[in-house]
Amino acid sequence: MLGPMLRIPAFRRALLGWYRRHRRDLPWRRTRDPYRILVSEIMLQQTQAVTVVPYYERFLKAFPTVQALARARREKLMKLWEGLGYYARARNLHEAARRIVRDCGGRVPRDPEVFSNLPGAGPYTTAAVLSIAYGAPLAAVDGNVRRVIARLYDIGRPLASDDREVRERADRLLEDRHAGDFNQAMMELGARICVPTNPACLLCPVRPHCAAFAGGTVGRRPVTQARRARPHKRVVAAVIRKNGKILIGLRPWDQGLLGGLWEFPGGKIEPGESPETAVRREMQEEIGADVEAGPAVSTVDHVYTHLSITLSGHFCRLKRGTPKPLFHAKLRWVRPCDLARYAFPEANRKLIREMRERKLL
Ligand code: SF4
Repeated sequence: MLGPMLRIPAFRRALLGWYRRHRRDLPWRRTRDPYRILVSEIMLQQTQAVTVVPYYERFLKAFPTVQALARARREKLMKLWEGLGYYARARNLHEAARRIVRDCGGRVPRDPEVFSNLPGAGPYTTAAVLSIAYGAPLAAVDGNVRRVIARLYDIGRPLASDDREVRERADRLLEDRHAGDFNQAMMELGARICVPTNPACLLCPVRPHCAAFAGGTVGRRPVTQARRARPHKRVVAAVIRKNGKILIGLRPWDQGLLGGLWEFPGGKIEPGESPETAVRREMQEEIGADVEAGPAVSTVDHVYTHLSITLSGHFCRLKRGTPKPLFHAKLRWVRPCDLARYAFPEANRKLIREMRERKLL
């Protein structure tokens, strides 16, 4: 069945009218400061607005200006980001702030070419920040917007993140004179009405323009490809105790997903290894010391985007050697009551919580 013709001027009026009446009062919508908008857009990548709000407020209290962020100590930055995940965003934002101060006189660049050279600034972030902060006529396409467009135009094939048709349709729909509001309206529609499952079509301000609604294909749009199953890994963490303190290590800043975070030393269990053997091997490799490893005192599951893990924590005693940072940027002995001062990845935090609840720490 042929869907309705999407009439662009009427579509824009309906969408912008709805947005202006119903938009959520979010803290980054009360500012025109390009730095604050940049922080919000980086935090909102892969993360829902309600989760971001307290992080955004704490972060801007600590670093109210781009200069303050450029000067920030990495450990303080990571502590403020702890729990928000996707830590590369924090590292990139820090580096972007340093470049803005060093190369752009402390002003978030207006030129899309200059902006998109900042670390972490892909096409979406460039369009979102520049349209909201400076009114630049650039359409921002994230997962929410892609889903809305797939339904509006009833696109019956899987869509890659840089799909050309979606990009062109988004560019044509954009209301240039109100690009910031228009982009936020599209994202708000995708986040609150045109949600992935059971979209609220009966409340949708652009329903008369929607081909998938007219054709009865909403539940099948966007077309999804079967996801490959996430690999699962078993991982051990050594909780090495000495004189009432515990050994933790700082992961190198620019290495891997969790760079810049503290952790209990440890790693993957190799095929054929018992957890205790894996702990002993990992400690020789990571800290150059022999340990005696006990059985798991606590076990937690955690799911990352591309991987799920089961992490077991093992109390350990040093047998031989002085721990050296062979993998970590540094090692530190800390009192259990001071662990909360350090930024840990979520799986380690779960382990700490569980050990605390069971009065093991
Ligand atoms: S009518 Fe339904 S499917 Fe179409 S845009 Fe609105 S919420 Fe999405």
